[in-house]
Amino acid sequence: MSHAVSYRGRFAPSPTGPLHFGSLIAALASHADARAHRGEWQLRIDDIDAPRTRIDAENDIRATLERYGFKWDGAIVHQSSRIDRYESALARLRHSGSVYECACTRRDLDAMPLGSSGERVYPGACRDGVAADHLRRRERAWRVRVDDAVVRFRDRLQGAQQQDLARDVGDFIVKRADGMFAYQLAIVVDDGDFGITHIVRGADLLASTPRQIFLQRKLAFSEPVYLHVPVALNASGEKLSKQTHATPLPHDALKALRAAWRFLDQPLPPAEFSSIDEFWRYAESAWSPSRLPPVPMLPAPAGHERTGLRFFG
Ligand code: GLU
Repeated sequence: MSHAVSYRGRFAPSPTGPLHFGSLIAALASHADARAHRGEWQLRIDDIDAPRTRIDAENDIRATLERYGFKWDGAIVHQSSRIDRYESALARLRHSGSVYECACTRRDLDAMPLGSSGERVYPGACRDGVAADHLRRRERAWRVRVDDAVVRFRDRLQGAQQQDLARDVGDFIVKRADGMFAYQLAIVVDDGDFGITHIVRGADLLASTPRQIFLQRKLAFSEPVYLHVPVALNASGEKLSKQTHATPLPHDALKALRAAWRFLDQPLPPAEFSSIDEFWRYAESAWSPSRLPPVPMLPAPAGHERTGLRFFG
């Protein structure tokens, strides 16, 4: 599916709305890192969650990326066209006895304990078979059995990381009861199939990485190198996102790119940029991962920190 290269990165937005300053941070950092390594950069549209996907959002994201001077290699990948690959990964996990069906209801799940990352820890209720009082429930999720091993990895910026999956997460879902494949499984299969060697993304996904490494091992994919950059917070201390109504990226690409560059503490240019191309030429040569702020979150700069909510009255 892909030829081996020494660096292949990617940017993988979910098409649920327009890009905002938070998305720009992940896009800029992954693109600059790929180009500085003379590597490839893939654009993947994470549109597996069909009900949340907005038809016009992908066009809007593409147009914004083009206006901002991002250049991707090869064709755009869509998760929605890769369901067969997720099915075969699940079949492989079933074959090795790594997954089981779970008939727990939302009510059951809400009663489960919270782990250190704030998520519910699945205590393994259906691990040895669906409970007798749930046998008639047709909606079944698939969960992967985690073992007692602690997953460790070294993030290029955030340093040594570790997670005890059994204690902090429990057996996690790879296919949901509504038939949709879980983010954790889909992206592991995508990154593996397309030979992604370096993942640069927001530190909000740091807590998901051990689950992804666990699945990579189960599915015999090699482990990419990780760099989790700080996520931008709005004035209320929330991560900028579509859910927190982050303002869409402005038309003035150069100004926003400069603000994102500064947010990442990158070396200032000798003079103002006169064009987007000039910005990217500079960014490729000046990109300095060692200067990135080694924290998981930072306030967004003025002008990008507001939410898009409008209050009337
Ligand atoms: N599609 C995911 C998101 O928008 C990103 C996936 C990833 O970088 O692993 O948050």
